[in-house]
Amino acid sequence: MKRHTRSLFVIAALSALLGGCMVNPATGKRQFSLISEPQEIQIGRENDRAITTQLGLYDDEGLQQYVQQLGSEIAASSERPHLEWTFRVVDDPVVNAFALPGGYIYITRGIMAHMNNEAELASVIGHEIGHVTGRHGVSQMSKQQLFQLGLGVSAVLAPEQFGEYGALAQAGLGLLFLKYGRDDERQADDLGLRYLVTAGYDPRPMTDMFDTLGRVSAAAGGERLPGWMSTHPLPENRQTRIARQIEQLGLDLASAPTNERTYQRRIENMVFGADPRQGYFRGGRFYHPQMRFQAEFPESWRHANQREAVIGVSESQDALVALTLAPEDSAQAALGAFLEQPGVTRKGAAPRTPRRLPSAGAVFDVATQSGAATGVTVFVEFDDQVFRLLGYTTSERWPELRTTLIRFCSEFGRLTDRRALDVKPARLRVVRVGESLTLEAFARRYDASVPVETLALINRLDPGERLRAGGAYKVVTGGELPD
Ligand SMILES: [Zn+2]
Repeated sequence: MKRHTRSLFVIAALSALLGGCMVNPATGKRQFSLISEPQEIQIGRENDRAITTQLGLYDDEGLQQYVQQLGSEIAASSERPHLEWTFRVVDDPVVNAFALPGGYIYITRGIMAHMNNEAELASVIGHEIGHVTGRHGVSQMSKQQLFQLGLGVSAVLAPEQFGEYGALAQAGLGLLFLKYGRDDERQADDLGLRYLVTAGYDPRPMTDMFDTLGRVSAAAGGERLPGWMSTHPLPENRQTRIARQIEQLGLDLASAPTNERTYQRRIENMVFGADPRQGYFRGGRFYHPQMRFQAEFPESWRHANQREAVIGVSESQDALVALTLAPEDSAQAALGAFLEQPGVTRKGAAPRTPRRLPSAGAVFDVATQSGAATGVTVFVEFDDQVFRLLGYTTSERWPELRTTLIRFCSEFGRLTDRRALDVKPARLRVVRVGESLTLEAFARRYDASVPVETLALINRLDPGERLRAGGAYKVVTGGELPD
């Protein structure tokens, strides 16, 4: 959960997008393929605010400038050099990269941690530039997908979403991004390769990049992660296809650079994995060191710490608790606004509220499309912000879950535990090994805080493969959570 985030951006962006709808004279269907370039740029700009707010930018000005400059150089040789290209590193551990229409491109710190040289990063960026120059986002966007783009927020905040537990459970899995078609993927690969060659890089790392993304996806197993594979479906033999094209180009690659050292210096000390300073769970207890609060979630429920909300969903997915910020200035005003929503009826006062903090709460009934729901909400004034604690379930299950939901709403408080406040994220280091080592020996020697499988993944090594003497490798250290 992040300070000063507001859902309004997304909702505004969403309505702007829906307003850009046009009828395609060929099919008679409403779609976006006919929008003008200025409209396309506007879509990009407005969604850029939503993405930046929801995911947050990685806090390293030097790294942001590096990626912006690298991206601008590659985009200058594209078919649309006149666009105002924007490249951002988002503060997200998920391995992903994505583009918005109009020239907005996002690289997660997660994907950067998995790349091994500048040419690999350039091939990711080139592929995304290809989606923009090919106007894929514009022709692929459907109303359904646009709705999903805003789902992460609206599902938690919009009253009409009450009772749609499936959607709420999904919201806990992260933002859903646009998904391209396979033909678009191939075209973006082809364009990306061309940009990489034009920029003077050794293009062979592009196949290494695919290799790594394939390994990341395999390691994630069957999980539906909101990562690269969910937004960029994998055409068959993608890696082989690009390798063959590189061969056919017949380039003299003797002096073409991959810029390994430059890249390693840039990612040195980068945060790796989830950043516990932005909130972490220990069992059902949630700690937020940056915002200095703690909360108590039902322990056996599924938890998700999102930028906009921290959510817990019951095992049977028929009850939800959520912690969000309210836009109002006081707890009373926020409660008033909550109870004024259509379908919501006040049932009584909240039986318990957090101690020593100004708060206002109520038990309520709400009529939803899928039946009657009952819940409890408490608004708490804390550090100049109003927090909303909300728990609800079907009216049928309310008697059974009442105590659990009330407990969630009343156990919010200031975080004072020094060890929790001082928690530090894990970070990447690049080290040069003097002798050939096994991954296990490497992990021990450099005090790795992640499993050897993770070290293998970020260094693109097979589990039994040895590290070369004199080679530079990435290791992850620190990030241990207090007990
Ligand atoms: Zn793609």
